[in-house]
Amino acid sequence: MSGEEAVFWRVQANHLYVHVPFCARRCVYCDFSIAVRPRVPVAEFLQALEGEWTTRHSASEFDLDTLYFGGGTPSKLGGEGVQRLMDTVRRHATLREDAEVTLEANPEDVSPDAVLRWKAAGVNRVSLGVQSFDDAVLAWMHRTHDAQTARRAVQVLREGGMSNISIDLIFAVPSTIPRAWDADLETALQLQLPHVSVYGLTVESHTPLGRWVARRDVAEAADETFEVEFLRADKALTDAGYEHYEVSNYAKPGRHSRHNWAYWKRRPYGGLGPSAHEFDGSQRRWNASAYAEWLNRIAREEDPTQDREALDDEQQTAEEVYLGLRTSAGMVTASSDRELVERLVSAGWAALSSDSTLRLTSSGWLRLDSIANDLTLLRSR
Ligand code: SF4
Repeated sequence: MSGEEAVFWRVQANHLYVHVPFCARRCVYCDFSIAVRPRVPVAEFLQALEGEWTTRHSASEFDLDTLYFGGGTPSKLGGEGVQRLMDTVRRHATLREDAEVTLEANPEDVSPDAVLRWKAAGVNRVSLGVQSFDDAVLAWMHRTHDAQTARRAVQVLREGGMSNISIDLIFAVPSTIPRAWDADLETALQLQLPHVSVYGLTVESHTPLGRWVARRDVAEAADETFEVEFLRADKALTDAGYEHYEVSNYAKPGRHSRHNWAYWKRRPYGGLGPSAHEFDGSQRRWNASAYAEWLNRIAREEDPTQDREALDDEQQTAEEVYLGLRTSAGMVTASSDRELVERLVSAGWAALSSDSTLRLTSSGWLRLDSIANDLTLLRSR
């Protein structure tokens, strides 16, 4: 793609995602677009980002309510690298005074100096990839930190004045890996964080874990384990005052992720960097996923777009149903849904409010895919 096609569309968005692909090594379960680099090429990356912005987004307008640096590991850019990244954003976009600016960070990258610089640059929310507080589990995952580093990172963030902290935890690891999920939850609660995300381990075929499972060196956790651990997390976190506002996300009141909420509400968003997606309200496009390819296309002043899709009516319905059901906002039901809705409510998987909004319960969220599928089929007839 080149020439006139270089500017795919003119995005007017209040939300922007920047993908920073660098990682020290690949975790066993990870299928994200990453670039493993012992030394992070900060200048090369920032120059390419600038190139993508000036060519592809020259006609776009970003008045940002939320900005999200994801990856990969954006914290690998270091304190100064993130400052320069923020400078790049500010050159091209307006950042509202109360904008939510999230940086994904790995615990080992959190130092007093880095936090100081991130904060000075305007980062006001850090999403920490903790995954577990058990050293054996972290080693099995090939994570680059241990439990003590994770606890220390939370402390350093707080001492640096960064109070809006989220952590990710992974449950349902294979039964052959000794893991005390309750202990992990207890540690997370002791930290009294404003936001916790819990993800069930999924096995993707082209990851190291996928290959181990294919060779039968390790077996996926049983469905029952997945269900039990998810419901335990749900109880522990909601009992502690967290709102379960999305299938995997829990927040203290007022501390939900505004950026992710925009995705789930299907608001337009821009995206920069390898594999980054964009949505203009009806169409989606995404960049080449491999770092080298994205970099080369930018260097040749070509559009880095990998592909795009315009959703037809059926896909749009499927997306609305799925995104509605995955959050606590729920979805408004139609009279044609009635029979299925009654079945879901009587099974304890959903609740229907007086304004006909259907919201899944925790047990329902365990069946999100199949419930969304059934509702979509019903609406597509
Ligand atoms: S740190 Fe995150 S992005 Fe990097 S390899 Fe691990 S899971 Fe993937």
